[in-house]
Amino acid sequence: MATGILSIDLAAICANWRAMDRVSAATTETAAVVKADAYGLGAGTVARALAGAGARRFFVAVAEEGAQVRQALGDGFEINVLGGHCGGDTGLIRDFGLTPMLNSVEQVTRHFENLPGHAFGIQLDTGMNRLGLEADDWAAIADIVLDARPTLLMSHLACADAPETALNRSQLETFHTLTDGLGIARSLSATGGILLGPEYHFDVTRPGVGLYGGLPFEGALPVVTLSLPVIQHRLVQPGEYVGYSLGFRATQPTRVATLAAGYADGLSRALSGKATLWAGDVPCPLLGRVSMDLITVDVSHLDQVPETLDILGPHQGVDALGGVAGTIGYEILTSLGHRYTRRYHGAA
Ligand SMILES: *Cc1c(COP(=O)(O)O)cnc(C)c1O
Repeated sequence: MATGILSIDLAAICANWRAMDRVSAATTETAAVVKADAYGLGAGTVARALAGAGARRFFVAVAEEGAQVRQALGDGFEINVLGGHCGGDTGLIRDFGLTPMLNSVEQVTRHFENLPGHAFGIQLDTGMNRLGLEADDWAAIADIVLDARPTLLMSHLACADAPETALNRSQLETFHTLTDGLGIARSLSATGGILLGPEYHFDVTRPGVGLYGGLPFEGALPVVTLSLPVIQHRLVQPGEYVGYSLGFRATQPTRVATLAAGYADGLSRALSGKATLWAGDVPCPLLGRVSMDLITVDVSHLDQVPETLDILGPHQGVDALGGVAGTIGYEILTSLGHRYTRRYHGAA
């Protein structure tokens, strides 16, 4: 069996969390977003490491993820569900002690009817138009909701990675208008918003991608290395082709290594003919098309064909690879396939 090795540095994740925590005021609680299996890196293991670093509150997208994180962490941690209380979620929310962030009048009604007295927060829309109560819905039900003491009032910024965008300030002002003076804990910012400065921090911040080494947190420590095994190599003669659809044609004798990972492992087909792999410090170009389970790489210039080549590592992080594929580091991380052997190091 030959699968890629995905090395995940838990100490770097914890250091990134501490760095996010340090830039906020002492009164701001730094939570951790571990949705989408902690951005592909393993929600249970990552959440336990972050709990060891001091995180007490975790955000997931859906109740099923919350149940998984609860099983990994045990009691004593707050697990907030960004998607709120959807039809069919009641059992999970109750049994695993999850706190849904309610997003609509319908969700508020469902929560109050199905789980009266059970903790909840409220998500307000301040201009992203994606999730959360609109201002007029909030005005209509705020009194009833506030009587039931939500644990958190939150909203989400649409352009926090672009500090100059006017919408950031407009969302901040709207959030103030909707929540000032209510005496309930508030949260507005993910990684990008934390970097916009203290006026965006409120009581709880929600960093995700910055913990995992991604932009917009420029100072993040890299977290992942992905090494792919060479399972065969051959000399390709001038005029011969490599891979599907004649994707590469050799113009000189070319030593081609075949590596065991492809688009089924999250290496997008958009990387065809464009990506670079690394043999230590030496770049090696990907040749031709990305197949489902395989890629082909030019190793002609190496003294020896190595056993593995890196596609993520010190020379190419998740955002650099995302740039080659025409996407962002977030999508590279969350697309990491399930065939890799995940090796954790750093914190316990
Ligand atoms: C995903 C998400 C986050 C985390 O965002 P990052 O940009 O990864 O830090 C925070 N809050 C909400 C509502 C989200 O959907």
